[in-house]
Amino acid sequence: MEVLIPADRIQRRIDELGRQIQHDYAAQPITIVGVLTGSLIFLADLVRRLDLPLRIALIQASSYRGATTTPGALRIQADLVPDLRGRHVLLLDDILDTGQTLSHLIRHLETLEPISLRIAVLLRKLGRQSIPLEPHYCGFEIPDRFVVGYGLDYNDEYRHLPHIAVLPTPS
Ligand code: 5GP
Ligand code: MG
Repeated sequence: MEVLIPADRIQRRIDELGRQIQHDYAAQPITIVGVLTGSLIFLADLVRRLDLPLRIALIQASSYRGATTTPGALRIQADLVPDLRGRHVLLLDDILDTGQTLSHLIRHLETLEPISLRIAVLLRKLGRQSIPLEPHYCGFEIPDRFVVGYGLDYNDEYRHLPHIAVLPTPS
């Protein structure tokens, strides 16, 4: 598979994001909410760079996609999310594509009354967003290709790759 972003470049970028996040929150306690399952590797690498009072929570959002790339209804599984009232919350996802998933999750998390809610994504696909949404922290902007690795899957495989690769389209 074609490597789009090598492992060492991902790690260097997470160093930078970690410094920026640590600086921005200035020792305030935060809860990082990772979106299952794609954000797991990003979450694990990022939190180990943060010297902040920190809690980790997880949330699941599954979309029912049809044969097209148009996302269907989204189901949020929030049982694992603790009380967020009065917390600074950083919502972490692997990739911002159309923006459907994150916008649903933002609407849900806002009902839990955090003090603040920011978004961090490892990847942002250019030219795909149908919902206007500006992540506060973004690792890399990538072209509109289907990518795997570093948490991102195809049929639940390839998540363990240390780099981001482009899945070949069947010809
Ligand atoms: P959105 O709701 O923004 O359209 O899509 C976000 C979700 O779609 C991501 O959390 C991810 O699960 C999935 N997704 C979008 N693009 C890709 C991609 O290129 N590769 C993989 N593996 N998943 C993707
Ligand atoms: Mg996902």
